[in-house]
Parts: sequence; structure tokens; C-alpha cells
Amino acid sequence: MLFFNELSFWERKEYLNGIDFAIIGSGIVGMSTAIFLKKRFPSAKITILERGYLPTGASTKNAGFACFGSPTELFDDLQKNSEDKIWETFLLRYQGLQTLFSLVDKERVNYKPCASWDLLAKNQSDIPVDFIDYLNSKTNLFIKESDVYSDDSLFANSFGFKGFQKAYKNRLEGSLDTGKLITELYKKTVELGIQTLFGINLESYTEAKQEVSLNTIFGEMKCAHLVICTNGFANKFLDADLQPARAQVMITKPIQDLKFEGTFHFDAGYYYFRNIENRILIGGGRNLNFKGETTEKFGTTDQIQDSILNLLKENILPTTAFEIDYSWSGIMGVGQEKSPIIKKVNNRVAFGVRMGGMGLAIGSEVGKKLANLF
Ligand SMILES: Cc1cc2nc3c(=O)[nH]c(=O)nc-3n(C[C@H](O)[C@H](O)[C@H](O)COP(=O)(O)OP(=O)(O)OC[C@H]3O[C@@H](n4cnc5c(N)ncnc54)[C@H](O)[C@@H]3O)c2cc1C
Repeated sequence: MLFFNELSFWERKEYLNGIDFAIIGSGIVGMSTAIFLKKRFPSAKITILERGYLPTGASTKNAGFACFGSPTELFDDLQKNSEDKIWETFLLRYQGLQTLFSLVDKERVNYKPCASWDLLAKNQSDIPVDFIDYLNSKTNLFIKESDVYSDDSLFANSFGFKGFQKAYKNRLEGSLDTGKLITELYKKTVELGIQTLFGINLESYTEAKQEVSLNTIFGEMKCAHLVICTNGFANKFLDADLQPARAQVMITKPIQDLKFEGTFHFDAGYYYFRNIENRILIGGGRNLNFKGETTEKFGTTDQIQDSILNLLKENILPTTAFEIDYSWSGIMGVGQEKSPIIKKVNNRVAFGVRMGGMGLAIGSEVGKKLANLF
């Protein structure tokens, strides 16, 4: 281990000194914030500090749904939150996707406008008959798009699923390649002259009049401004309605003659699956053990893996042989409220955290809003 006070003149000058903005976390939010700050302050020295050798939270582990709202999830949300708040967050997601695609090229991240289907199990209660009309009138009003939502149960029957009574389509949702997205964002930061130092964990920080001191195991670094984008790991820096939430996922081996292409939500968004070429990526089941999944620890549990596997066997591929290749998990940041926390706590320090399960959609817009706070 090499401490900061053992670094060379060149290393100190290049990497440690004169940092105008230190961003903590190299996920979607951290990188987007750095990019928008650089656009706003072209001569600023901007450095991202990332604790892992890769981003180690949710941004490289997610399902790659470019989504902004499925009917049963929106219905569920409307029972628990104010209508204004729900549509404000909906708009943030929709605009967020446009912001994301202003930073990265759709083709390079393998974006597919494949649509999404929200599946309803036979034993689940349906949304009210006029709810799709309500959603379409709102989307018409807010995003100027007509007939975004429709009942598409007949077409969805051709996918070979079993046990679902309804399928509601959102024609504007799609999928992308999460790995390529992070690579493209990273390339953009490099192009703009933003540095990323991997393997540095921020332990704590203290503010003084002229600067902020960052305490790490390698020693102390200083910066003029600090932006914390550590999402599910921000608890130790911020007293807020924010908890870590683990999400477990698995992927099949390639399947011959896979019958569908698209993104699918089930059980008010608690389960989701999609094809990646001829494999299926599927995740969910956090609602089976909210308490146990409120953790910063990566890992999988038999209870949740079994429930995902069961859904795959019984309902998604009931007549097709398949094998699971492997599983993984990621850590999200969630709260009672579904909206992100974007705030400056004083002149020098700001937070952009609590992206929930929609960080692909809102992450870049959150970065833009954070940059505009300075
Ligand atoms: C399995 C799964 C599936 C998902 N599917 C989707 C989806 O299909 N569509 C969608 O829109 N969203 C999805 N999400 C949510 C989405 O991935 C997140 O909302 C988004 O990636 C959050 O980005 P972020 O930059 O805020 O946080 P993160 O990507 O978690 O980045 C935070 C970074 O901070 C670093 N860090 C933490 N603490 C410190 C510290 N003290 N010092 C230095 N670095 C630190 C971490 O290592 C991490 O790299 C999913 C999430 C998971 C886990």
C-alpha cells in the first residue's frame, strides 16, 4: 500500500492537487455529474473517486431496461403517494432517458426500442378498466405521446408464457447493454479530461472555509467541492430516508428458438426479465424478504433464487428446456419515496442518491441537475 505522502511530485501535481470537484462513485450518476460539471466549468479539474476496481454498486449489474413506468407499478405507486409526485418522477425518468441519449450514442449501447409488457398473473387483481385511458391521457399531456399504453394480451399469448391473464404494453420502453453504456460514459469522461481514481474509498470528509478534506485509507486529499454519488452506500454521509436494497439476478445459457424479444415486468415491477440475444436475464423477489435484502452486502439467497427460478420454469419457459448460467446481485438505494435526493447540504457539498430501480432512466438527469447546483 502506498500512502499519499509517499507519492512523487508528478503524481501529487497530476492527481491530488488543485481538485475543483471531487465526485464520489463512478456509477451512472457520478460519471454523468462529472460530465455535466465539465460542460458547465470547462477549465475545472474534476476527479472521480471510486472504491472498486470497477464501479461496485448497481450501474454495471442492472438489467438494462430503459423504462419509465409500467401500469401495475404506477397503479401501486398511486395508492401510496400523491399523484403530483408520481407524475413528477415519471417525467424525470422519461426526460432522463433523453438526457442519457444526449451523452451516449443509442447504437453504441445497443439500445433496442423493443417495447415492454407488464404481465398480470391469473390470481392477481387487475387494474381498473379505465386506468389505461387515464395513463394515456397523462402521457399525452406530459410527454406529448399518444397511445403509449395498451392491452396487448392477445399478442403476448404468442410468447409461449403460462399463467398470465393480461399483458399491458408500453410501446416506448426498450433495452440496452449495461456494460457498453458504462464503457461509453467512461470514454466520455476520459475525452473531457476527467480523471477517475479507482480503489479509493472515501471514509469521511470535513469541510473548512476554503476546501473540503477527504479522508481515505491512503491519507487525506483536498478539493474545493464534493459531490457524493454513492447511492445505496450514502447512509454513512447523509441522514435521510435512504436504505441499501439488494437486487438478485440470474442469466440462462443460450436457448434455442427463444420465442420472444422484449422487456417484461411482473408483480408491480418486483420481477423483471428480458432477452439478451437468445438468453434470458431475470431478476426480482426482493419483496419476499425486504428486511434481509436491506443490506450493502453482495450475494444471493436460496429463497429468492428459487422464486426467480420457479417463475422461469412455471410461467416463462414452461415447455422449453433451459439451464442457468450464473447469478449475481447489485445494491440499489431506496426510500419510502421513489424520487431521488438531489441536494446541496452547504456551499461545497452536494448529494445525488436514492435512484431506486430506475437509475438508468434518471441517473443522467440527476447528474445534470446536480451540476446545475454549483
Ligand atoms: C440487479 C439490478 C437490476 C436493475 N435493473 C435496472 C433496470 O433495468 N433499469 C434501470 O433503470 N435501473 C435498474 N436498476 C437500478 C440502477 O442500476 C441504479 O439505480 C443505478 O445504477 C444507480 O446508479 P448510481 O450511480 O446512483 O449508483 P451506483 O451504480 O451504485 O454507483 C455508486 C458507486 O459508488 C461507489 N462507492 C460507494 N461508496 C463509496 C465510497 N465511500 N467511496 C468511493 N466510492 C464509493 C460504489 O462502488 C459504486 O460504484 C437495477 C439495479 C440492480 C441492482
